[in-house]
Amino acid sequence: MKSYRKELWFDIKSRRELINITPFVNQCLSESGIKEGLCLVNAMHITASVFINDDESGLHHDFEVWLEKLAPEKPYSQYKHNGFEDNADAHLKRTIMGREVVVAITNGKLDFGPWEQIFYGEFDGMRRKRLLVKIIGE
Ligand code: ZN
Repeated sequence: MKSYRKELWFDIKSRRELINITPFVNQCLSESGIKEGLCLVNAMHITASVFINDDESGLHHDFEVWLEKLAPEKPYSQYKHNGFEDNADAHLKRTIMGREVVVAITNGKLDFGPWEQIFYGEFDGMRRKRLLVKIIGE
């Protein structure tokens, strides 16, 4: 069995951001040389998510509005976590959107359903952040 590991770094300029990372994961898969197996992609921060959904701007706006209804950023004082930090909402948003995805690899390709794309969701950005790609198989 082959094993491949890579950390991908992103310079996140705003507090919240969605990045379609599918091209980067495809690059990793190509580098790995693995044709049959599993690909795990996870955020390496507890205020960020990796999830699979549609690359459609209206939906991305809807995610932002929906997450702000569930866990509004402000007022910061509404959260007990916000003693020395102001990112309680980001921890909650991350929990809803998930930590990681696993995608099957078949014939050297990510075996997606229609319209599936992998996203990195940042909820407490404005600094460099990273995610992990781990691919196993043969
Ligand atoms: Zn925190």
